[in-house]
Amino acid sequence: MSAETEHVKCLIIGSGPAGYTAAIYAARADMKPVLYQGMEPGGQLMLTTDVDNFPGYPNGVNGGAMMADLRAQAERFDTDVRDGWVTSVDFSSTPHKITVGEEKNLTADTVIISTGASAKWLGLESEIRLRDAGGGVSACAVCDGFFYKGQDVAIVGAGDSAAEEATYLAKLCKKVYMLVRKDHFRASKAMQHRVTATENIEVLFNTETLEVLGDQAVEGVRVKNNQTGEEKDIDISGFFVAIGHKPNTDLFKEYLELDETGYIINKPGSSKTNVEGVFVAGDAADHVYRQAITAAGTGCMAALDAERYLASKGLH
Ligand code: NDP
Repeated sequence: MSAETEHVKCLIIGSGPAGYTAAIYAARADMKPVLYQGMEPGGQLMLTTDVDNFPGYPNGVNGGAMMADLRAQAERFDTDVRDGWVTSVDFSSTPHKITVGEEKNLTADTVIISTGASAKWLGLESEIRLRDAGGGVSACAVCDGFFYKGQDVAIVGAGDSAAEEATYLAKLCKKVYMLVRKDHFRASKAMQHRVTATENIEVLFNTETLEVLGDQAVEGVRVKNNQTGEEKDIDISGFFVAIGHKPNTDLFKEYLELDETGYIINKPGSSKTNVEGVFVAGDAADHVYRQAITAAGTGCMAALDAERYLASKGLH
């Protein structure tokens, strides 16, 4: 190992609510955490406009502003927040070895992985443009559904997430169009039943999205029936995408146990992975809840687990 290798007690990879909460706890426990922000500093909340469901903000908060608050709180306790992303890890022995960028080498007694997951998008120009403008395109019904109370919305997808989010939206919205590209759902029978039993959800099978309509904000969606070729415009003010998430865990697959879709498997009731000294927090291990507050909660768990691990090894 080169002379420039830096040793840290606690390395945190990722800068969403999980990573920053882990940093706050680790820093207050004097573990001198170093946090690498990764490719998307702030994580998925940077794609959100208003966050109304994070406790402590009675008037809601802009997603980017909330992440700036979390960062400031972590830095107040001397978390070393750094730009850069981890390019490789070696968890085969302790201390664990980590490379950042092309040439920065570190060793770490504990590693907290909070690399999150990325929502999948259709990839349409109109979808991405309106998403980035905060104009009514969202990948999280629980986060953003409230803003469309009493209005008409559409949701793309046919899996359990889409079914669950469609029924969630149906409680708030006047009408929910569910756009399913095949002639059947992928969701479980129970979830399908919930959808079909909900009066204000209209399922459009064999339906593909051609364009999200609207200049500054969503005004409609242009869809095509892939059996008949018929195109039509549907008036909506919110466009939801629920076609799956991809956990950002490729980097770790050689060492960590992942489930079949790539989520890190943690030991039940803890943040421990199958490798000693490596912990996971947030969406990298969670395909069920995926909320900022649950990510923050598991970030706290990971820091506490890491501290106990260090103490058990006489390293802290
Ligand atoms: P899935 O991968 O299960 O489903 C993705 C859906 O999106 C599929 O119906 C797929 O269509 C559709 N899709 C993908 N790409 C496109 C596209 N370009 N255009 C249109 N449609 C597209 O993801 P989920 O997020 O729904 O679920 C992930 C995992 O989490 C699953 O194992 C699920 O069971 C689980 N889960 C469980 C819940 C629960 O138990 N309460 C709640 C939520 C998730 P197609 O069918 O045509 O391939």
